Amino acid sequence: MNKTESPILKVWWVRNPPNNPEVYIVSSIKQARDILNKLTSADLKLPHVLSNAGGLCVLGEDGEWEDWYCDTCAEDINTCKC
Ligand SMILES: [Zn+2]
Repeated sequence: MNKTESPILKVWWVRNPPNNPEVYIVSSIKQARDILNKLTSADLKLPHVLSNAGGLCVLGEDGEWEDWYCDTCAEDINTCKC
């Protein structure tokens, strides 16, 4: 894979785990954060959502999704503040 290509990113979101995740393909970390923020606010208005969880994966060169970690701080999307 060409290193200059932007990574393929996937936001996942589960309402009331262990339900199946919703998945959103995104093109940037900023877009991933925006979606996660929107999902968080939306769920606060849904009385049937008792808990939720979300995260970001990146498509590896081997074609497998891997958890995304920040290049700068090594944290995941939920804790990275870069
Ligand atoms: Zn970071």
